[in-house]
Parts: sequence; structure tokens; C-alpha cells
Amino acid sequence: MTARPAVTNRRLTGIGMTSARTRDRLIARLREQGIEHEDVLERIRGVPRHLFVDEALASRAYEDTALPIGHGQTISQPFVVALMTAALIEGSAPRKVLEVGTGCGYQTAVLAPFVATIYSVERIAALHVRARRVLRDLKIANVFMRHGDGFEGWPPYAPYDGILVAAASARVPAALLEQLANGGRLVMPVGPDREQQLLRLTRRGDTYERELLGPATFVPLLKGLS
Ligand code: SAH
Repeated sequence: MTARPAVTNRRLTGIGMTSARTRDRLIARLREQGIEHEDVLERIRGVPRHLFVDEALASRAYEDTALPIGHGQTISQPFVVALMTAALIEGSAPRKVLEVGTGCGYQTAVLAPFVATIYSVERIAALHVRARRVLRDLKIANVFMRHGDGFEGWPPYAPYDGILVAAASARVPAALLEQLANGGRLVMPVGPDREQQLLRLTRRGDTYERELLGPATFVPLLKGLS
């Protein structure tokens, strides 16, 4: 036996900073910020966000803030994860979802119980590998993950009832518009740095209804693999 399982167990069962009160404070803050979807709030309360960040940052895991996850990337702010999840599942939840930008897998974990299957693509190999391990430890089994460039979507499993993009671009990549099912929804930050807006598109045949959900700050959607 090595020391690792013991450490992992301690992290999984939780220590002080993962106390119910710490999580309650986060949920209260999300409510104040306007998140009303009760099932989403409950899910955020239940997902152990401290497992998705480095141990040195675990004490800040239940703050409503983005935190570094290495490779110049961040774990999304809980408010943004709640907003995007609710925007995607409101009314009727999609069954098959494409996620672009797995990052550490936190958004994936929050969304997983609301949908049948998630196909999640990440361009940075090290993040892809780490996210896969964390989701496996949490026994989240309805997620397929790929090291790939999300600009291309994930064609073999298209069309998707929902597409969630966790990085910003000037416009929605053409492949993602094509891979969205009729009636499906896409949620994504669009626009130039510092002026991004969270956009929700609903496909109606060859037209796409647009709704702007508010300002956003995301890392850029980048081409190619790393
Ligand atoms: N929601 C994630 C954080 C996403 S940060 C979480 O909770 O951790 C955005 C992620 O998108 C980064 O990991 C970045 O590497 C990834 N990304 C950027 N461009 C991409 C692309 N073209 N294809 C796939 N992933 C991309």
C-alpha cells in the first residue's frame, strides 16, 4: 500500500473547507446573483469542487470565483457554471450534449446527471487526462471524453440536442452550428476580449434564434491541439 489511497480518501470524504456551511454560503450567493433553478443549485452543492483544483487551492474551492488549473486555464466560476447549465436544460433537458472545453471537468460533472450522455472535447492533453481521472473517481459514467479541437465539434456522434462551449470566440464555429440538432440549443460566450456575451442559440431548421444572457469573461477558444 502506498500513501496515495489514504490521501485520496481524505480528499473524497472531505475536510473542514468542504463543510456543509461553506457550501451553503456558495449556494446562497448564487441565489443572490439570480440563479433560480433549484435542481442546478442542489447539484452545485453536491459536486465536490475541491477535487477539481490543486490541493493548494482547495480551501478556496467554494468561493464563487474562477481558479487556475494550470496550462493558462481556469476552472469556471460556479455562477457561470450554474447559469450555463440552467440555460441549457431549462424547459426540457437535452439528451445528448457536446461540451467544448472540458478543462478540469467541473462543468461536465455539474451537467452530467441532467442529460443522458455528454461528449466532451478538450484541446490540452494534460487537462483531458486529469479530468478523465477525476470524473472516474466520482463514478460519473455518462461522459465520453476526447483530446481534440472543439472547432471541429465531434462529428461521429452528431447531431447534438445541446452544445455547451466553455471558451470564447468571435463567432460560433460553423461545425458546431451544423452539429446542433433541429430544436437543439447551444450556449457559448461570443465576442471580443472583455466584451463577451453569453449567447444561447436555438436551431429552427436553417435559422438560429438568438438570445443574449449577459456579459461573460472566458478564456479564448483556440485552434489546434496542445
Ligand atoms: N468549464 C471548464 C473550464 C473551461 S476553461 C471547467 O469547469 O473546468 C476552457 C477550456 O477550453 C480550457 O481547458 C481550454 O483548453 C479549452 N479549449 C479552448 N479552445 C478549445 C478548443 N478549440 N477545443 C477544445 N477545448 C478548447
